[in-house]
Amino acid sequence: MLNIQNNIPLSKHAAFRIGGPAKFFAEVFSIEELEEALQFAKEKSLKFFVLGGGSNVLVSDRGFDGLVIKMKINNLKIDIENSKMEVGSGIPLIKIVRDSIEHDLSGMEWAIGIPGTLGGAVRGNAGAFGGTMGDVIENVKALEASGSFEIKNLSNVQCEFKYRNSAFKNNSNLLIISAILKLQAGNKEKSQKEAEEILNKRAAKQPKGMASAGSFFMNPVVKNSQLIKEFEEEKNVKSKGGKVPAGWLIDRADLRGKKIGGAMISEEHSNFIVNTGNATAEDVIMLTSYIKQQVRDKLGVQLQEEVQYVGF
Ligand SMILES: Cc1cc2nc3c(=O)[nH]c(=O)nc-3n(C[C@H](O)[C@H](O)[C@H](O)COP(=O)(O)OP(=O)(O)OC[C@H]3O[C@@H](n4cnc5c(N)ncnc54)[C@H](O)[C@@H]3O)c2cc1C
Repeated sequence: MLNIQNNIPLSKHAAFRIGGPAKFFAEVFSIEELEEALQFAKEKSLKFFVLGGGSNVLVSDRGFDGLVIKMKINNLKIDIENSKMEVGSGIPLIKIVRDSIEHDLSGMEWAIGIPGTLGGAVRGNAGAFGGTMGDVIENVKALEASGSFEIKNLSNVQCEFKYRNSAFKNNSNLLIISAILKLQAGNKEKSQKEAEEILNKRAAKQPKGMASAGSFFMNPVVKNSQLIKEFEEEKNVKSKGGKVPAGWLIDRADLRGKKIGGAMISEEHSNFIVNTGNATAEDVIMLTSYIKQQVRDKLGVQLQEEVQYVGF
């Protein structure tokens, strides 16, 4: 029988450590429990929200006036012969990386250090250091939460992976249950070395010891060719398809370190908004609105959030 709790503080389930309570909260470990939770929401005419690791969300100070379903589906099967892994949506990404390396499979090293679960990573097509989830997904099993809870199998193409986007992001009723990852035969020592290098690079450029939700904004495609040129010259890298890092634009707008209430633009990485200890969701919203307005006014670029808002 599913344990549905009342009035659970979501700040404890969000990497940002911000947010009010969920009216109802349930952890689901199987498809049956997921269906039970959805049925509960349906019968009570409640909104629902699926939470993975909470590493890419900003929860409102009022919390969520419905049912939060925390995905804990945690099946994991490794098919070494075919270099595949079948992974439940609630499995932490770090476990997938570690287990794949342990079994001499290569293809997930780039994801080391990204917090959260498989489900959140698939939905947002998480990526880093040249890799993305879309590159390794063979197919995804999902449950259609509207109607009769039909189970669907989506091929990689049907997942419509794009930069920080997927079919799941465009349809919040399509809930990720598990995925099959297609990796390659690799070498444990080589993969370990690669993963370690990535962790070092992350440690060098990301804020330490402060709660955040990772990069707050997506890297926009910039139309102003002069701005792209300035970015390329300054950083000595080529922009891909006109994309410029949001952090670079925030720096150009001279906003690094800007603070509103307890929310601050990280001194270490300008696309990270950090909770300096007592930030409210309102502080974050005021700061991010200010960033968007300043970047638009000073540079003519519209930033768009990567972080998902909950309960606003
Ligand atoms: C320090 C730090 C560093 C980060 N670095 C990176 C990085 O390098 N690259 C990157 O891409 N991201 C990064 N992130 C952001 C974040 O870790 C990823 O977006 C991650 O994949 C989110 O997974 P999650 O399980 O925590 O999702 P959550 O935050 O729980 O949820 C995010 C969204 O996914 C939805 N969701 C979650 N599970 C499911 C499911 N099973 N079915 C359907 N929808 C679901 C939620 O409803 C929500 O809309 C970073 C975050 C932090 C805090």
